[in-house]
Amino acid sequence: MIQCSKCKDVKEEGEFRKDKRIKRGYCSNCKECTSLRKRIYYQNNKEKKRERDRRYYQNNKDKIIERQRIYEFIEKEKRLKYKKEFHKKNKEKKRLYDKERYLLKKEQGYTPPKYNKELRKEYDRIRWLKKSGKIEEYKKAHHAYQCKKRMRRDAKLLTDSYIRHLYAKEYGKQIRSTLTDDEIRLRRELMALQRLQKQKQGENNAQTRES
Ligand SMILES: [Zn+2]
Repeated sequence: MIQCSKCKDVKEEGEFRKDKRIKRGYCSNCKECTSLRKRIYYQNNKEKKRERDRRYYQNNKDKIIERQRIYEFIEKEKRLKYKKEFHKKNKEKKRLYDKERYLLKKEQGYTPPKYNKELRKEYDRIRWLKKSGKIEEYKKAHHAYQCKKRMRRDAKLLTDSYIRHLYAKEYGKQIRSTLTDDEIRLRRELMALQRLQKQKQGENNAQTRES
């Protein structure tokens, strides 16, 4: 039991935030008092903080957006990797899934793209274009779709091991043991950025083709 130095109540350890800098290991104020203080401070400095945030955003807009995009890209890759591993572990489920797809093909005459809502939506749109006889539009959309699919297949996931592999290819095997996490992280971010730029370029090209 600890006494809060603010409200003077004696409370369980769980009611206090941990703090390694303090000998006892816990803050001297209870969680309730701390959150109350923060709330009051926030109320009194709300406008100032908003203004500061706004200014910071304006001054660093490009950097923030770029960082955000890199982050999202890496997260997407992580999810993709997770999915891959998941399917490896769930072979039986996958078999049933494939069977379902097979039956769907028999019934409707086409196979929807696997495991991806975004691609699936696009695929449905393409099918719709074909059905409604918009052949020119259909051709373009189909081409773009195929490109996207190929890119997805070609793109290696930016996992740690893949980046280590790239380093080793470039500098020799012995670099593996000396690589730091920071080096790997930096390289991953750089590669993510390059890939995004390439993607953007591809999209621009597609747009100029369309117009
Ligand atoms: Zn308290």
